[in-house]
Amino acid sequence: MRTSYDVTIIGAGLAGLQCARLLARQGLNVLLVDRKNTLDQKVHTTGIFVRRTLVDFDLPEDCLGPPIKHVTLYSPAHRSLELVSQHDEFRVGRMGQLYQRYLQQCLHAGVDWLPQTSYLSHSAIKGKSTVRLSSGVITTRYLIGADGARSRVARDLNLELNREFIVGVESVFQSAVLAGPPRLLCFLDPKLAPGYIAWIAHDGEETHLGVGGYPALFDPATALQDFRSRVENIIDLRKAKQIESRAGFIPVGGVLRNIANSTGLLIGDAAGAVSPLTAGGLDPCMRLSAFAANVVTEYLSTGDVQALQAYSGELFRSRFASRLWARRIASTIRQPQLIELGCALLRLPLFSRLANHVFFGRGSFPDVTDQPTLVCRQHS
Ligand SMILES: Cc1cc2nc3c(=O)[nH]c(=O)nc-3n(C[C@H](O)[C@H](O)[C@H](O)COP(=O)(O)OP(=O)(O)OC[C@H]3O[C@@H](n4cnc5c(N)ncnc54)[C@H](O)[C@@H]3O)c2cc1C
Repeated sequence: MRTSYDVTIIGAGLAGLQCARLLARQGLNVLLVDRKNTLDQKVHTTGIFVRRTLVDFDLPEDCLGPPIKHVTLYSPAHRSLELVSQHDEFRVGRMGQLYQRYLQQCLHAGVDWLPQTSYLSHSAIKGKSTVRLSSGVITTRYLIGADGARSRVARDLNLELNREFIVGVESVFQSAVLAGPPRLLCFLDPKLAPGYIAWIAHDGEETHLGVGGYPALFDPATALQDFRSRVENIIDLRKAKQIESRAGFIPVGGVLRNIANSTGLLIGDAAGAVSPLTAGGLDPCMRLSAFAANVVTEYLSTGDVQALQAYSGELFRSRFASRLWARRIASTIRQPQLIELGCALLRLPLFSRLANHVFFGRGSFPDVTDQPTLVCRQHS
């Protein structure tokens, strides 16, 4: 293993893996570091991929569950609204398998991989950074923070930090019984999930049952327990086997403004690249990391700091305006009666279009293909 790299990426979640394999394919020497021992452990996402990601990126077929086109939205009083898309809208990733597959692709492209290694700090002098890792010291021309929602790299690079979070917890089951086709069930309930939703994602093979909300407003473990007993009449878990528990922080303040400088940049949750409304971060991981790989390649090959200007959270953020407003509203409405009323309105034809738009619309992370000079569509 070398001690000097073009690019060092801290964090081998979806963002870090996507960026590492693309950079290595461009011929750069890349080091990928994660404190985890193996990537199929401690997964902290449900793994629901939306249609736009499935269309734009060729995710390995065997790392995805069966397609889902049905959504049921429940009000606090459990009145339901059925939404059906003409398309296959969602697929639940088999995330451990997907991370391992992408890691194989990284290794194949020449990435050096350091598992079970923590990033500690770095210092930058004259275009080179010295990075202190728990296993020793390396030097790098550029540092990428893909180290998640509470990024230490962001802090050390003097870039912006996420400030608004929700927390999500879920249990994953096999052999749960739910009548009808594979579906996503979303429950609006400010007690179980203040500021977000409780969910069941059932694709016929795996079932994820979870709650999310502002950490100051609920106890996630208790809420998950309550939720499980509240949905006993909807899903039969008596013969189901729990195979995993997952949990994590989700930044919902929108993509951060200041996410790059001449020493390093941020991708994925570290950049706040999560939809403030749906809390979906997987599409942004794929899209923003591909864009970052192009920007970094251009910067390192030309040495021109102007290349980094396109990588500005400010540019992306303007496209999030309506979702940021929706998040502000979601964070303030705590009365079940108001949510019940909102759900009743969604059953009216005019407003049901809005519900369809939220669940089946193509508006995930802004597509950066229309940024001048840079192209983000990358296929694996
Ligand atoms: C419960 C839950 C459910 C979710 N469900 C969905 C969903 O269904 N669909 C969707 O689109 N989004 C979902 N999200 C959001 C989505 O999972 C995230 O946005 C996405 O996984 C972020 O990926 P990432 O690579 O940026 O970060 P992470 O996946 O958090 O990866 C960061 C990596 O950095 C490593 N790391 C951190 N610090 C260090 C350090 N100091 N040294 C070395 N390594 C370090 C960690 O070990 C980790 O492997 C969910 C989030 C949660 C919490």
